[in-house]
Parts: sequence; C-alpha cells; structure tokens
Amino acid sequence: MPQFRTLRGMRDFLPKDAKKMRYVEVVARDLARLYGYGEIITPVVEHYDILAAKSGEEIRERMYAFTDMGGRRVALRPEFTASIARLVATKMRHEPKPMKLFCAGSLYRYDEPQHGRFREFWQANYELIGSSKPEADAEILTLTYDLIERLGFRNYWVKIGHVGILRGILAQEGIAEEQQNTIMQLLDKKRLDEALTVTRESGASQSCVATLKKLLETRGKDVFQVLKETKRVVEDYESAVAAVENLREILELTRESGVKFETLIEAGFARGLEYYTGMIFESCVPEFEIALAGGGRYDKLIELFGGEPTPALGVAQGIDRLVLAMKKQKVSPKVPEENKVMIIPVGEELKTKAFELSLKLRNTKIPAEVEMMGRTVSKALSDADRRRVTHAVIVGPEELREERVVLRDMKKRKQRVVEIQNLSKEILRGPN
Ligand code: AMP
Repeated sequence: MPQFRTLRGMRDFLPKDAKKMRYVEVVARDLARLYGYGEIITPVVEHYDILAAKSGEEIRERMYAFTDMGGRRVALRPEFTASIARLVATKMRHEPKPMKLFCAGSLYRYDEPQHGRFREFWQANYELIGSSKPEADAEILTLTYDLIERLGFRNYWVKIGHVGILRGILAQEGIAEEQQNTIMQLLDKKRLDEALTVTRESGASQSCVATLKKLLETRGKDVFQVLKETKRVVEDYESAVAAVENLREILELTRESGVKFETLIEAGFARGLEYYTGMIFESCVPEFEIALAGGGRYDKLIELFGGEPTPALGVAQGIDRLVLAMKKQKVSPKVPEENKVMIIPVGEELKTKAFELSLKLRNTKIPAEVEMMGRTVSKALSDADRRRVTHAVIVGPEELREERVVLRDMKKRKQRVVEIQNLSKEILRGPN
C-alpha cells in the first residue's frame, strides 16, 4: 500500500506558498541582473566525486548518493559551488575575468528536519570568480545587504570572520590541514573545548592555545575596534595578521560606500565548509538561530577541479529561510494587486464567445478564466467571490446581440453593460 504523503523533510508548496518562494527567487534574480551576474543552470544530479570533492565532512555524509542504472556513483547536489567550480575549470575556463554567475534552484541534504531546515531546499547563489581583491569581497557583502533590504527586512545583521585568522595560527604551529579542518568544524558547531583539546593534541604550543582562547572571545559590533583587538591577539602569527588586515580593507570599502548593515565580527568564526580560504559571513535575523545566507572566499577550489589557480568567492541565500523570516517579521512581498477576471457564459451556446473573450483579455495582459463547472450565473458569482476574482464578465444573449457584456465589479458589487471592444479598458479603469 503506497503512503500518500511526502517524504520526511520534503514539502509540497501550494499556490500561496509557491508564490512566496518564487517572489524571493525573482527578486534575487533581478538583483543578479542589476549587478551583472549571468544566470547558469546546472544539473541536479552530478558525479558523487565532484560533489564530495571538498564540501566538508558534514555535507558529504548527508548527501543523497546512489548508483545510477549505468553503474555510476552519483548524488543530488547538496550545494551549487562544486558544480560551478567544475564549469569554471572546464567549459568556462577561457571566459574573461571577473566572471559573475548566478544560479537558483533546489538542493538536497539528508539533514535532520527542523524549523528552517529541510531535506530539499532552495538557494539563490551568486559567485564572483577571478578577483582576489577586497573589492570583490565588498561586492558580495553589498549584494547580500541589498537583497535583504529589497525584501524589506527591518531587523538583521551580518556576522563576519576570516578563515585566514585561525588557519594562519594553526599552520604556523605546524598543524596539518586535515586536523585544521577538524578543529574548524568543532568551532563551527560551537564545541570550543573539544576544538582546543584537538589543537593541543595536534602539538600546538601552550601560547597558541592561549591565543585561540582569547581569539574566540574576541567579538563585537564595533567593527574596527574588534579588528584592532584581534590584530593584537594574533600579533605573533604573520599570516593571521594579514588576514585581519584583509578583513579591515573589505569592511572599510563596504562601509565607506554607504552600505549600512549591523556587523558582528567574530574572530574565531569558522563556517562548516572546508573550502573557504578568506572572509566568511552569514546573514542573520533575531527570529532564527540559523543563518539566512552564508558565503565566503574559496581561492583554492577551482584548482581542485583541475582549473588554473583562480581566486573566487560567493554567497548562498537560503530562499526557504528568507520566506520564513519574512513571515516572522511580517514583511509582505511588494507585488501590485492584480485584476482577476471570471467570464461566465449564460448559456451553452455562448461558451465559444466566453473563450474568445478570455483570449482577448489575456492578450491585453489581464488574467482571465472561463467558468467551466456548468454553474448558473448566481452560483458562478458566489464561486468567483470565494476565489477573490476582481471582475466577472457575464456573457448573455441580449447584450451580445449589441456586442456588449455585463461587467461586474466583485468588490463593489456593482455592474454595468459595456461594449466588448472597450472591455479591457473598462476593467483597467477600475471601479466606477
Ligand atoms: P550552506 O550552503 O550550508 O552555507 O548554507 C547556505 C544557506 O542555505 C543557509 O544559510 C540556509 O539559508 C540555506 N540552507 C542550508 N541548508 C539548509 C536546509 N537543510 N534547509 C533549508 N535551508 C538550508
């Protein structure tokens, strides 16, 4: 017996919810256009090895992976970045830089479902490839700010860090990359004591552990003050100091160009994905403990896919979470009210005319439907009310003889006879 429900973590979107998801997607796509990001569409199913290459243990373990009928090990994409790195290393390798790419669609992770965490979810993804300059980082931050503002959020902040700070310290202590990854993952999960234990066990000096401890406490909203303090904490580690400098430059650029979001600097912030090499960030709202978007710089990833060494960075906006957060902050989509017309033929023989009129209305961009349940006019009108139809067009034999129909304003409950040739104009004119 089949079970007639969706799989755990998978959702149906009924028209009202689908509309909200598409709204965010459309705003995100429009933003891509304004910033010069070209859209690409990549497959949902890819070789397992490509998706697993550098996605971090956590995502790797949660991939929907299987063997296809041709015996290939494949998986549903858990993120876009691997597919984009594949493209940039292959078909797009000769494209001029910077390359700006946008993609949106569904992703799959066998996460434990909870509020805002699903097994199928959508992202709008922006990638900026080819520039190592802080201008590129500043643009991705600006774009993130811009999307949140355009969606109408009132209360949000961006949490920012730099992978180079922690990695710089650990590398100078001679800790291998694999162990660095373990430490970063523990930090990402806020398991600080365990992270420090692994650091100690990996042979780090006493002063390194003390530095890390201090670093993890270095956070705050006064951006340049926190950066100054961080620099002091890591002063013995050359590349960590360079990372702090890099972050300062990025934030100076962003701030001075007028982007005004609340920023929380966390020197010990480590996002889960192993491929990050520079600035990392997440956008947050008070209503959610989990981030709405996440991004950062990944300068080594394209190489890993066999491409030329290519600096790159990007941001993944979680469409599902943006929709949920909009609801919580009572931010409604900015879409103009649209007319919705129902055409009701009074008798069987007028069906063709009703169809003809519906085509004419749609050609003038007015959404129109024809009554198709064989209802009487009064039943059809109460059904139209239920469906929030704005206008009913009643096609009756007498009016039709004079090339006219009855136009009823459903909100005002008023009707008048209008010339068919003026029908669109009359509907657009609004109530009388
Ligand atoms: P990540 O690719 O893990 O950096 O995630 C980027 C963004 O994608 C997050 O900030 C979320 O908005 C969204 N996201 C990631 N995983 C999920 C999930 N399981 N369900 C819903 N949204 C998700």
